[in-house]
Amino acid sequence: MKNVIVVGSGPAGMMSAISAAKCGHKVTLIERNNKIAKKLYITGKGRCNVTNKKTIENFFENVLTNKEFLYSALYTFTNEDTIKFIEDGGTQLKVEQGDRVFPISDKSVDIIKSFEKHLHKNKVKIKLDSKVSKINVENSLIKSLVLSNGEEVSGDNFIFATGGASYPLTGSDGKLFDEFKKMGHSIVKLKPSLVPIELVEKWPINLQGLTIKNALLTLYKNNKKEISFQGDFIFTHFGISGPIVLKMSRYIFENNIIL
Ligand SMILES: Cc1cc2nc3c(=O)[nH]c(=O)nc-3n(C[C@H](O)[C@H](O)[C@H](O)COP(=O)(O)OP(=O)(O)OC[C@H]3O[C@@H](n4cnc5c(N)ncnc54)[C@H](O)[C@@H]3O)c2cc1C
Repeated sequence: MKNVIVVGSGPAGMMSAISAAKCGHKVTLIERNNKIAKKLYITGKGRCNVTNKKTIENFFENVLTNKEFLYSALYTFTNEDTIKFIEDGGTQLKVEQGDRVFPISDKSVDIIKSFEKHLHKNKVKIKLDSKVSKINVENSLIKSLVLSNGEEVSGDNFIFATGGASYPLTGSDGKLFDEFKKMGHSIVKLKPSLVPIELVEKWPINLQGLTIKNALLTLYKNNKKEISFQGDFIFTHFGISGPIVLKMSRYIFENNIIL
Protein backbone atom coordinates (compact mmCIF):
# COMPACT_ATOMS: atom_id res chain seq x y z
CA MET A 1 0.00 0.00 0.00
CA LYS A 2 1.40 3.38 -1.05
CA ASN A 3 0.70 6.79 0.42
CA VAL A 4 -0.71 8.63 -2.61
CA ILE A 5 -1.14 12.42 -2.63
CA VAL A 6 -3.48 13.90 -5.24
CA VAL A 7 -3.38 17.68 -5.73
CA GLY A 8 -6.53 19.36 -7.08
CA SER A 9 -10.11 18.28 -6.43
CA GLY A 10 -11.62 18.91 -9.87
CA PRO A 11 -13.16 15.96 -11.72
CA ALA A 12 -9.66 14.75 -12.78
CA GLY A 13 -8.26 14.83 -9.23
CA MET A 14 -11.35 13.27 -7.65
CA MET A 15 -11.37 10.47 -10.23
CA SER A 16 -7.61 9.86 -9.76
CA ALA A 17 -8.06 9.74 -5.98
CA ILE A 18 -10.97 7.29 -6.20
CA SER A 19 -9.10 5.08 -8.69
CA ALA A 20 -5.92 5.02 -6.57
CA ALA A 21 -7.97 4.19 -3.45
CA LYS A 22 -9.77 1.39 -5.31
CA CYS A 23 -6.31 -0.07 -6.08
CA GLY A 24 -5.77 -0.35 -2.31
CA HIS A 25 -3.69 2.78 -1.66
CA LYS A 26 -4.01 5.29 1.15
CA VAL A 27 -5.04 8.50 -0.60
CA THR A 28 -5.07 12.15 0.44
CA LEU A 29 -6.75 14.69 -1.85
CA ILE A 30 -5.36 18.21 -1.41
CA GLU A 31 -7.40 21.26 -2.45
CA ARG A 32 -6.58 24.96 -2.07
CA ASN A 33 -10.25 26.03 -1.77
CA ASN A 34 -12.49 25.55 1.25
CA LYS A 35 -14.65 23.14 -0.77
CA ILE A 36 -14.02 20.54 -3.45
CA ALA A 37 -14.67 20.90 -7.19
CA LYS A 38 -15.45 24.61 -7.23
CA LYS A 39 -15.36 24.82 -11.04
CA LEU A 40 -17.79 21.93 -11.36
CA TYR A 41 -20.50 24.07 -9.71
CA ILE A 42 -20.53 26.49 -12.66
CA THR A 43 -20.39 23.88 -15.44
CA GLY A 44 -23.27 23.69 -17.91
CA LYS A 45 -24.68 26.96 -16.54
CA GLY A 46 -24.97 25.36 -13.10
CA ARG A 47 -26.52 22.14 -14.48
CA CYS A 48 -23.31 20.27 -15.49
CA ASN A 49 -23.46 18.62 -18.89
CA VAL A 50 -21.96 15.36 -17.59
CA THR A 51 -21.44 13.53 -20.89
CA ASN A 52 -23.22 12.60 -24.13
CA LYS A 53 -25.17 9.44 -24.99
CA LYS A 54 -23.84 9.24 -28.57
CA THR A 55 -21.44 6.44 -29.58
CA ILE A 56 -17.76 6.80 -28.76
CA GLU A 57 -17.06 6.88 -32.54
CA ASN A 58 -19.30 9.95 -32.68
CA PHE A 59 -17.25 11.59 -29.89
CA PHE A 60 -14.14 11.29 -32.07
CA GLU A 61 -15.92 12.88 -35.05
CA ASN A 62 -16.26 16.01 -32.90
CA VAL A 63 -12.62 16.23 -31.87
CA LEU A 64 -10.75 18.59 -34.20
CA THR A 65 -7.14 17.62 -33.59
CA ASN A 66 -5.08 14.70 -32.25
CA LYS A 67 -8.13 12.51 -31.57
CA GLU A 68 -5.86 9.42 -31.33
CA PHE A 69 -4.68 10.77 -27.98
CA LEU A 70 -8.16 10.08 -26.56
CA TYR A 71 -8.73 6.55 -27.90
CA SER A 72 -7.36 4.67 -24.92
CA ALA A 73 -9.04 6.90 -22.30
CA LEU A 74 -12.46 6.90 -23.95
CA TYR A 75 -12.53 3.19 -24.74
CA THR A 76 -11.24 2.27 -21.25
CA PHE A 77 -13.80 4.43 -19.43
CA THR A 78 -16.69 5.12 -21.79
CA ASN A 79 -19.58 7.58 -21.56
CA GLU A 80 -21.73 4.69 -20.32
CA ASP A 81 -19.17 4.05 -17.54
CA THR A 82 -19.38 7.75 -16.61
CA ILE A 83 -23.18 7.56 -16.41
CA LYS A 84 -23.00 4.43 -14.24
CA PHE A 85 -20.36 6.03 -12.00
CA ILE A 86 -22.50 9.12 -11.34
CA GLU A 87 -25.69 7.11 -10.85
CA ASP A 88 -23.90 4.71 -8.47
CA GLY A 89 -23.04 7.82 -6.45
CA GLY A 90 -26.76 8.45 -5.99
CA THR A 91 -27.55 11.06 -8.68
CA GLN A 92 -30.02 10.17 -11.41
CA LEU A 93 -29.31 11.49 -14.90
CA LYS A 94 -31.45 12.42 -17.90
CA VAL A 95 -30.79 12.77 -21.63
CA GLU A 96 -31.69 16.02 -23.38
CA GLN A 97 -31.63 17.41 -26.93
CA GLY A 98 -28.44 16.46 -28.76
CA ASP A 99 -28.05 13.39 -26.50
CA ARG A 100 -26.54 15.60 -23.78
CA VAL A 101 -26.63 14.11 -20.29
CA PHE A 102 -27.56 16.23 -17.23
CA PRO A 103 -28.60 15.50 -13.63
CA ILE A 104 -32.40 15.11 -13.34
CA SER A 105 -32.32 17.84 -10.68
CA ASP A 106 -30.60 20.28 -13.12
CA LYS A 107 -28.13 21.01 -10.30
CA SER A 108 -24.39 20.51 -10.79
CA VAL A 109 -24.02 20.21 -7.01
CA ASP A 110 -25.63 16.76 -7.28
CA ILE A 111 -22.79 15.62 -9.55
CA ILE A 112 -20.33 16.79 -6.88
CA LYS A 113 -22.34 14.88 -4.25
CA SER A 114 -21.94 11.73 -6.36
CA PHE A 115 -18.18 12.19 -6.44
CA GLU A 116 -18.18 12.89 -2.69
CA LYS A 117 -20.00 9.63 -2.05
CA HIS A 118 -17.35 7.67 -4.00
CA LEU A 119 -14.55 9.55 -2.20
CA HIS A 120 -15.99 8.72 1.23
CA LYS A 121 -16.81 5.12 0.30
CA ASN A 122 -13.19 4.62 -0.76
CA LYS A 123 -11.87 6.38 2.36
CA VAL A 124 -10.07 9.19 0.55
CA LYS A 125 -8.87 11.79 3.06
CA ILE A 126 -9.75 15.33 1.91
CA LYS A 127 -7.50 18.21 2.96
CA LEU A 128 -9.08 21.59 2.15
CA ASP A 129 -7.65 25.15 2.38
CA SER A 130 -4.29 23.70 1.35
CA LYS A 131 -2.61 25.49 -1.51
CA VAL A 132 0.53 23.79 -2.82
CA SER A 133 3.06 26.53 -3.51
CA LYS A 134 6.30 24.59 -3.94
CA ILE A 135 7.40 21.09 -4.87
CA ASN A 136 10.56 19.85 -3.12
CA VAL A 137 12.54 17.56 -5.40
CA GLU A 138 15.59 15.51 -4.41
CA ASN A 139 17.47 13.18 -6.79
CA SER A 140 14.70 13.57 -9.36
CA LEU A 141 12.08 12.38 -6.88
CA ILE A 142 9.43 14.47 -5.15
CA LYS A 143 10.35 14.67 -1.49
CA SER A 144 7.47 16.81 -0.27
CA LEU A 145 4.95 19.49 -1.14
CA VAL A 146 5.09 22.83 0.62
CA LEU A 147 1.74 24.46 1.33
CA SER A 148 1.31 28.23 1.42
CA ASN A 149 1.05 28.11 5.24
CA GLY A 150 4.49 26.48 5.36
CA GLU A 151 3.22 22.99 6.18
CA GLU A 152 5.01 20.13 4.37
CA VAL A 153 3.15 17.13 2.98
CA SER A 154 5.04 13.99 2.03
CA GLY A 155 3.96 10.80 0.31
CA ASP A 156 5.17 7.91 -1.87
CA ASN A 157 3.44 8.95 -5.08
CA PHE A 158 2.00 12.24 -6.28
CA ILE A 159 -0.68 13.04 -8.84
CA PHE A 160 -1.14 16.65 -9.96
CA ALA A 161 -4.58 17.48 -11.35
CA THR A 162 -4.58 21.23 -10.89
CA GLY A 163 -6.46 22.06 -14.10
CA GLY A 164 -5.57 24.70 -16.67
CA ALA A 165 -5.67 28.46 -16.23
CA SER A 166 -9.26 29.29 -17.11
CA TYR A 167 -11.53 30.80 -14.46
CA PRO A 168 -8.78 31.43 -11.84
CA LEU A 169 -11.51 32.40 -9.37
CA THR A 170 -12.33 28.69 -9.08
CA GLY A 171 -8.76 27.93 -7.99
CA SER A 172 -7.23 26.76 -11.28
CA ASP A 173 -4.71 29.51 -11.99
CA GLY A 174 -2.01 27.48 -13.79
CA LYS A 175 0.64 28.68 -11.28
CA LEU A 176 1.97 25.18 -10.53
CA PHE A 177 3.13 24.84 -14.15
CA ASP A 178 6.21 26.88 -13.13
CA GLU A 179 7.03 24.25 -10.51
CA PHE A 180 6.59 21.45 -13.09
CA LYS A 181 8.97 23.34 -15.43
CA LYS A 182 11.58 23.54 -12.68
CA MET A 183 11.27 19.74 -12.36
CA GLY A 184 12.29 19.42 -16.01
CA HIS A 185 8.92 18.92 -17.66
CA SER A 186 8.21 20.67 -20.94
CA ILE A 187 4.94 22.54 -20.78
CA VAL A 188 2.65 22.94 -23.77
CA LYS A 189 1.74 26.63 -24.13
CA LEU A 190 -1.73 27.17 -22.65
CA LYS A 191 -4.33 28.45 -25.11
CA PRO A 192 -7.97 29.38 -24.62
CA SER A 193 -10.38 26.78 -25.97
CA LEU A 194 -14.18 26.63 -26.18
CA VAL A 195 -14.59 30.26 -25.18
CA PRO A 196 -16.91 33.11 -26.24
CA ILE A 197 -15.50 35.59 -28.78
CA GLU A 198 -14.94 39.26 -28.05
CA LEU A 199 -15.69 41.56 -31.00
CA VAL A 200 -13.94 44.76 -31.99
CA GLU A 201 -17.24 46.15 -33.34
CA LYS A 202 -19.42 47.85 -30.74
CA TRP A 203 -22.82 47.47 -32.49
CA PRO A 204 -23.43 43.85 -31.32
CA ILE A 205 -23.71 45.19 -27.73
CA ASN A 206 -27.07 46.68 -28.72
CA LEU A 207 -28.26 43.17 -29.55
CA GLN A 208 -27.10 41.53 -26.30
CA GLY A 209 -29.40 38.71 -25.20
CA LEU A 210 -30.63 38.04 -28.75
CA THR A 211 -30.30 34.38 -29.75
CA ILE A 212 -30.02 33.46 -33.42
CA LYS A 213 -31.17 29.90 -34.15
CA ASN A 214 -29.69 27.71 -36.86
CA ALA A 215 -27.26 30.38 -38.07
CA LEU A 216 -24.24 29.85 -40.29
CA LEU A 217 -21.07 31.27 -38.74
CA THR A 218 -18.14 31.61 -41.14
CA LEU A 219 -14.52 32.40 -40.35
CA TYR A 220 -12.55 34.37 -42.96
CA LYS A 221 -8.81 34.96 -42.91
CA ASN A 222 -7.40 37.52 -45.36
CA ASN A 223 -10.76 37.46 -47.17
CA LYS A 224 -10.44 33.70 -47.64
CA LYS A 225 -13.14 31.44 -46.21
CA GLU A 226 -11.62 29.09 -43.62
CA ILE A 227 -14.50 27.18 -42.05
CA SER A 228 -18.25 27.39 -41.24
CA PHE A 229 -20.35 26.00 -38.40
CA GLN A 230 -24.15 25.82 -38.36
CA GLY A 231 -26.21 26.13 -35.16
CA ASP A 232 -27.27 28.63 -32.49
CA PHE A 233 -25.43 31.65 -31.10
CA ILE A 234 -26.20 34.59 -28.81
CA PHE A 235 -25.08 38.24 -28.74
CA THR A 236 -23.52 39.23 -25.41
CA HIS A 237 -22.29 42.47 -23.83
CA PHE A 238 -18.81 41.87 -25.26
CA GLY A 239 -19.44 39.95 -28.51
CA ILE A 240 -20.88 36.52 -29.30
CA SER A 241 -21.27 33.21 -27.49
CA GLY A 242 -23.20 29.94 -27.79
CA PRO A 243 -22.44 26.46 -29.18
CA ILE A 244 -21.14 27.38 -32.66
CA VAL A 245 -19.08 30.27 -31.30
CA LEU A 246 -17.36 28.06 -28.73
CA LYS A 247 -16.63 25.52 -31.47
CA MET A 248 -15.23 28.26 -33.72
CA SER A 249 -13.00 29.62 -30.91
CA ARG A 250 -11.31 26.24 -30.69
CA TYR A 251 -10.57 26.40 -34.41
CA ILE A 252 -9.21 29.95 -34.17
CA PHE A 253 -6.70 29.09 -31.45
CA GLU A 254 -5.72 25.64 -32.76
CA ASN A 255 -4.79 27.21 -36.09
CA ASN A 256 -3.22 30.35 -34.62
CA ILE A 257 -5.65 32.54 -36.54
CA ILE A 258 -5.47 35.92 -34.89
CA LEU A 259 -8.17 38.22 -36.16
C1 LIG B 1 -18.09 28.08 -17.43
C2 LIG B 1 -17.67 26.65 -17.68
C3 LIG B 1 -18.63 25.71 -18.00
C4 LIG B 1 -18.27 24.38 -18.25
N1 LIG B 1 -19.24 23.47 -18.53
C5 LIG B 1 -18.91 22.16 -18.70
C6 LIG B 1 -19.92 21.16 -18.87
O1 LIG B 1 -21.12 21.44 -18.82
N2 LIG B 1 -19.50 19.88 -19.06
C7 LIG B 1 -18.16 19.53 -19.06
O2 LIG B 1 -17.85 18.34 -19.24
N3 LIG B 1 -17.19 20.46 -18.86
C8 LIG B 1 -17.53 21.74 -18.68
N4 LIG B 1 -16.56 22.68 -18.45
C9 LIG B 1 -15.15 22.22 -18.44
C10 LIG B 1 -14.81 21.57 -17.09
O3 LIG B 1 -15.18 22.42 -16.04
C11 LIG B 1 -13.32 21.26 -17.03
O4 LIG B 1 -12.96 20.49 -18.15
C12 LIG B 1 -12.97 20.51 -15.77
O5 LIG B 1 -13.32 21.23 -14.61
C13 LIG B 1 -11.48 20.19 -15.74
O6 LIG B 1 -11.26 19.39 -14.61
P1 LIG B 1 -9.87 19.31 -13.88
O7 LIG B 1 -10.03 18.39 -12.73
O8 LIG B 1 -8.80 19.01 -14.87
O9 LIG B 1 -9.54 20.80 -13.39
P2 LIG B 1 -10.35 21.80 -12.45
O10 LIG B 1 -11.80 21.49 -12.42
O11 LIG B 1 -9.92 23.15 -12.88
O12 LIG B 1 -9.80 21.48 -10.99
C14 LIG B 1 -8.49 21.78 -10.60
C15 LIG B 1 -8.48 21.92 -9.09
O13 LIG B 1 -7.13 22.07 -8.64
C16 LIG B 1 -7.12 23.03 -7.58
N5 LIG B 1 -5.78 23.64 -7.54
C17 LIG B 1 -5.17 24.38 -8.50
N6 LIG B 1 -3.94 24.77 -8.08
C18 LIG B 1 -3.77 24.26 -6.84
C19 LIG B 1 -2.73 24.33 -5.89
N7 LIG B 1 -1.59 25.01 -6.15
N8 LIG B 1 -2.87 23.69 -4.71
C20 LIG B 1 -4.04 23.00 -4.42
N9 LIG B 1 -5.07 22.92 -5.28
C21 LIG B 1 -4.94 23.53 -6.48
C22 LIG B 1 -8.18 24.04 -8.01
O14 LIG B 1 -8.63 24.82 -6.91
C23 LIG B 1 -9.25 23.13 -8.58
O15 LIG B 1 -10.20 22.74 -7.60
C24 LIG B 1 -16.89 24.00 -18.18
C25 LIG B 1 -15.93 24.94 -17.84
C26 LIG B 1 -16.30 26.25 -17.59
C27 LIG B 1 -15.24 27.26 -17.19
